[in-house]
Amino acid sequence: MTSLGEFDFIAQYLAPLAAGHEGAFGLKDDAARLTCGNGLVVTTDTLVQGVHFRKSDPWDLAIRKAVRVNLSDLAAMGAAPQAIILSIVWPENSDSSAMIALADGLAADLANYGVPLIGGDTTRGGDRLILTITAFGECETPVRRSGAATGDDVYVSGTIGDASLGLNASRHDALSDDDKSALDQRYLLPEPRHQLAAGLANLMSAAIDVSDGLVADAAHVADASGLALELHLAELPLSDAAKNWVGDSEDPIDALVTLATSGDDYELLFCAPPIHRDAIKQVAAASGVAATRMGRCLAGHGVALLDASGKPVEITRSGFTHF
Ligand code: ADP
Ligand code: MG
Repeated sequence: MTSLGEFDFIAQYLAPLAAGHEGAFGLKDDAARLTCGNGLVVTTDTLVQGVHFRKSDPWDLAIRKAVRVNLSDLAAMGAAPQAIILSIVWPENSDSSAMIALADGLAADLANYGVPLIGGDTTRGGDRLILTITAFGECETPVRRSGAATGDDVYVSGTIGDASLGLNASRHDALSDDDKSALDQRYLLPEPRHQLAAGLANLMSAAIDVSDGLVADAAHVADASGLALELHLAELPLSDAAKNWVGDSEDPIDALVTLATSGDDYELLFCAPPIHRDAIKQVAAASGVAATRMGRCLAGHGVALLDASGKPVEITRSGFTHF
């Protein structure tokens, strides 16, 4: 199949995604206009084929992941998504059907989240798809990584470790096909927690989204807030598939540490004073996303993972880093 032209693609497939947002000017002007009553929060993330998604992953899923990781960053600031811009580098000789699949995936998620596409850039070159999304969100006061105080509780949303088990499913023979596909789904399509974050905005003292691994991201909060985070491994929230995997492993403690130090979860880690425990329970129940209390903030530095007897577990690797 031949490759679609840049302007045809924008006019036919992307412009409809700007509908209803006046400031996008139908994707026909040089720039877009954003208006916003409160402060604007801005974030950007680039996904490179073969690095952040697999060469074989369909492009509709790649673009949806790109949308979701950006919304996850907004959630971690307690910001409600307002709009995105998208820059695409198409590989040479991109197949039209793959390009259209990408537009369909984008349309599906922007409809899911009620967010318009208000602009972007389109170029071509190289041998891999590169997607850069910039997301704009709105909030009164951004929730920072630095706001945690000693005595605050530490919570984690959803479940941890699924995405990396999904990515490495082929290495885990013991997993059933159902578990493998559930885990793969978690790798391909993270769930941004912006709805949960919206409910928690006035309750959280600090937050981060878990992208590099729970322990590594907890350490970012600890550093920024100038204190230590203590997390109980036994409280690590696990999906049924991950529980099965831990159950089948020779060393369950080591398996839990692996899950707590693997990346791509896109869950929220947040801190809050104990006085908000009931309110947090209610917000989590209303949003349908679990918020598990895993530990607390105390004087000191770094992150300690504790086993069931309260003893620190040795952590040899804390998470993923590119460099
Ligand atoms: P310019 O050369 O002035 O930067 P472009 O030709 O790059 O303009 O883009 C024309 C219009 O199409 C702009 O409004 C731009 O925001 C929009 N656009 C281009 N690529 C994308 C994309 N991938 N997603 C959304 N809008 C896009
Ligand atoms: Mg341009």
